[in-house]
Amino acid sequence: MNKIENITCINALNKLKRTIPYGWDLNIYRGCSHNCKYCYAIYSHNYLGVEDFSKVFVKTNVVEQLDKELSDKNWKREIINIGGITDSYQSIEAELKIMPEILKLLIKHKTPAIISTKSDLILRDFDLIAQLSKITYVNVASTITTLDESIRQRIEPNASPSLDRFRILKTFRNTNASVGLHVMPIIPYLTDSYSNFEGLCAEAKNSNVHYMLPGVLYLRGKTRKIFFDFIQNEYPDKYDDLKILYRTGGADKVYKEKLYNEIVNPLRLKYGISNSYIKPMKEKLHTE
Ligand code: SF4
Repeated sequence: MNKIENITCINALNKLKRTIPYGWDLNIYRGCSHNCKYCYAIYSHNYLGVEDFSKVFVKTNVVEQLDKELSDKNWKREIINIGGITDSYQSIEAELKIMPEILKLLIKHKTPAIISTKSDLILRDFDLIAQLSKITYVNVASTITTLDESIRQRIEPNASPSLDRFRILKTFRNTNASVGLHVMPIIPYLTDSYSNFEGLCAEAKNSNVHYMLPGVLYLRGKTRKIFFDFIQNEYPDKYDDLKILYRTGGADKVYKEKLYNEIVNPLRLKYGISNSYIKPMKEKLHTE
């Protein structure tokens, strides 16, 4: 059982430095129980002085605070990115049910949103998200890295199985929301095979996604140590090759070019899947 602690937030929304394609982040929790071995957000616990990213902090006043911020006369109904740092549908959400209250506020204030998750708990909120998508732009995205469940259970132990995440995309395709597949990260030597990427493209096509975004593993800060400790324990035969490939935070340039030229781009084109998440966003916001 993960440790949970209550905190209060001063601001619900976090203003991002860049404004395209969205200018605001909303994270209703800090920390995440999905326990992905490549988690890029681990650094965010540094500010709390807590080592264990699976220790989850619940922002008990986030609904009330968000209502205040969205009620402000200066609020311009810009797009809010929900779950950029932690997954809003991680296990504690099943009990706390904060997201339905957040969605009701977005509906009340006609505010567009991007919702990213690796949990099929999001299906619980289907009606609210469908309702919001009739009013304004909503994008539902899921990160899916592999169709091999034995790998998935090791790299993303507490997230939903990959096929359940495709079910999320298929289900929300029946709303006015745009849906996207994020193949992030592609882990060299583990999930970078032609057959894995082809399987993901086939499922993406079958789910009729609006777009697919691929991205190769990036390792920085504490994530690097956690990832390499994991590889050493679970895939020791890949350890040395990965160490050579990751002399810095990003994978070797030649490796990435080959991956994109021989696998990622040809397969995306073969299955006719767009890589533009901006297109459905512009179409929807323009219509409004
Ligand atoms: S779902 Fe995202 S935030 Fe949660 S552990 Fe995985 S990578 Fe980190």
